Amino acid sequence: MSRLILVDMDGPVVNYLPMWLDEYHRNGGEYVKPKQCEHYEMVHNVKNTGILYASLQYPLANAPPIKGAVDAILKLRKAGNHVVFLTAAPSLHCVRANELKLNWLRQVFGAPQDDFYISCPAHLKKYVYGDVLIEDNAQTIQEWKQRHTGDAILFKAPYAPTGVEWNAILELLLSDPVCPNFI
Ligand SMILES: [Mg+2]
Repeated sequence: MSRLILVDMDGPVVNYLPMWLDEYHRNGGEYVKPKQCEHYEMVHNVKNTGILYASLQYPLANAPPIKGAVDAILKLRKAGNHVVFLTAAPSLHCVRANELKLNWLRQVFGAPQDDFYISCPAHLKKYVYGDVLIEDNAQTIQEWKQRHTGDAILFKAPYAPTGVEWNAILELLLSDPVCPNFI
């Protein structure tokens, strides 16, 4: 069964935070451990936001993919599914973010389908139509499920401990043509 699968890029596919904090430290910022940064609120936890923003370009271009993500997404595509990556709209502090993320996706996943990448503000993700949403923000999942009948899968993260990882997602989507709402 071919489905339109929306994949949240930031979290399920790549985690910029460790490499970003390394760069921040190397460029003259203070030493901050990833676990000291609450998700979505890291900017409030560091002293020099100028150095922090300047340190973002390198990880956007070079961060490694999440374990299992590349294999799973290529298998989902091969099975006839259409995979679209969703990502947060770039902040004014890093205007090259979309270009760098799109280049990264091309390098990691090969030639894109025409509409394989959507960049929108996080609070508007809930309006993007799909048969399946894979997302590490439980609130976005709830909001999306209020507007769509598709399946929403919570991806595991420190702030989403009840979520699942790519091996379980792959098993679910490849084996069950009608998967249950999975949260
Ligand atoms: Mg995310």
